Amino acid sequence: MKCIYCQGTIERNFAPFHISRKGCHLTLNEVPAWVCGQCGEAYFEEKEVELIQDMIRIIQEHSDRMKTDTPTQHVQFA
Ligand SMILES: [Zn+2]
Repeated sequence: MKCIYCQGTIERNFAPFHISRKGCHLTLNEVPAWVCGQCGEAYFEEKEVELIQDMIRIIQEHSDRMKTDTPTQHVQFA
């Protein structure tokens, strides 16, 4: 497999991944990916992309829940 941009050799490595959805920004520093040794372009496999989409879904569910929660008491963490 060659890089589609520069025809360089791509190798199994790690690459940062950024995603933004409805006011939710997720940055992962090290996601397994195929990375071009020449230009650094990263190619993510479906398996990893699906996991990231799952993460986004969970984060959105939690953040939606946070918005609908009305604070009833003040909780102090010692
Ligand atoms: Zn390349």
